[in-house]
Amino acid sequence: MAIFAAIQSVPAVFVVGLAASLPVVAVVAIIFTVLSVLPSCNAGRPWWRKPDLATDIGYLVVMPGLMYYARIALLMVGMLVLYGVTSQDAAWALLEHGCGPLSALPFAAQVAIYLVASEIWLYATHRWLHDLRLWRFHAVHHSSEHLEWLGSFRVHPVDFMLHFLMGDSLLLLLGISPGVLVWLVPFSIGMSTLTHANLNWDFGPFRTVLASPVFHRWHHTGVDRGGERNFASTFPIIDVIFGTYYMPKGELPSDYGVTERDVPYDFGGQLMHPFRAQASSPAAIPAHDTGD
Ligand SMILES: [Zn+2]
Ligand SMILES: [Zn+2]
Repeated sequence: MAIFAAIQSVPAVFVVGLAASLPVVAVVAIIFTVLSVLPSCNAGRPWWRKPDLATDIGYLVVMPGLMYYARIALLMVGMLVLYGVTSQDAAWALLEHGCGPLSALPFAAQVAIYLVASEIWLYATHRWLHDLRLWRFHAVHHSSEHLEWLGSFRVHPVDFMLHFLMGDSLLLLLGISPGVLVWLVPFSIGMSTLTHANLNWDFGPFRTVLASPVFHRWHHTGVDRGGERNFASTFPIIDVIFGTYYMPKGELPSDYGVTERDVPYDFGGQLMHPFRAQASSPAAIPAHDTGD
């Protein structure tokens, strides 16, 4: 089984996963360093002087390798259940040559279907993660008090699996080509980092077409403001349709983070937090004023 073969090379996979992600992160870091000369959404320190920079770097170093295994495990289980495949070679061959009804469609059609279907999945699971029982996993993502582009990487592994990997795995198993996901990597990383960046961009007349920094930064505010709204990842129109769109005119979001004082600031503490924290709901606890 693939999972057993993969576990034999744990250190190698972690090094390769990190090495593969570093060039992309380096390019993104340069772009947001240059953009930091533009008017920001909130006054304060530049991203490289954030007090919890080490926490976000922890996610950058560990998550690529960890999620590599999670992705393989989800795909292998799906292959076994849906197609009866038990070997790594057969699984990869099936993925490569198309393993579901969508695989016969042209590449462009697969890209369009992936964008729409994954957005619906992301919206639904994001609302689910704000539910009482799962909030303690998602609270880790909302714990950034000095919200910056790096905060997009601060996602608990369980949150990451439910929110991102399960949807991607399902679409791959239905026939979407792995090439579609690879082709969209720059767009996906670009959107997730941009929407967390400390910029005052709201995209003007296109504010309901594409998620902007102001749109998603409202989502990181207290529940008395945008904290229980703006769940979309890329296309805010889905929030408009479901009545969760929030973009007050003439205002910019501020005051990020969660009020639960027991969400640790360090990377290791955050990984363990959901397993030892008391269940708490974002609806019961608005974000506190952290300044900066
Ligand atoms: Zn959220
Ligand atoms: Zn976010």
